[in-house]
Amino acid sequence: MVERVRIVVNEDRCYLCGGCVGVCPTLAIELSSSSWNFYQEKCISCRICVNACPVGALTAEPLEGEE
Ligand code: SF4
Ligand code: SF4
Repeated sequence: MVERVRIVVNEDRCYLCGGCVGVCPTLAIELSSSSWNFYQEKCISCRICVNACPVGALTAEPLEGEE
């Protein structure tokens, strides 16, 4: 089974390019004009977004024991 993770953004690095939004298969990330938003209930912990971010702004943190 895939380890469940929470995706966390480093707001100092993120420049709201939308790259992570475009690659997420389940639409678990949304951008507004001024903020990056993550929806845990939609995330399937694939980590594609973490690898796709051009500035390394995303981190996957284990969700173990928090559900
Ligand atoms: S880990 Fe996968 S499902 Fe979760 S936000 Fe990133 S791309 Fe979307
Ligand atoms: S890909 Fe990275 S820089 Fe672009 S919106 Fe997502 S987290 Fe921010």
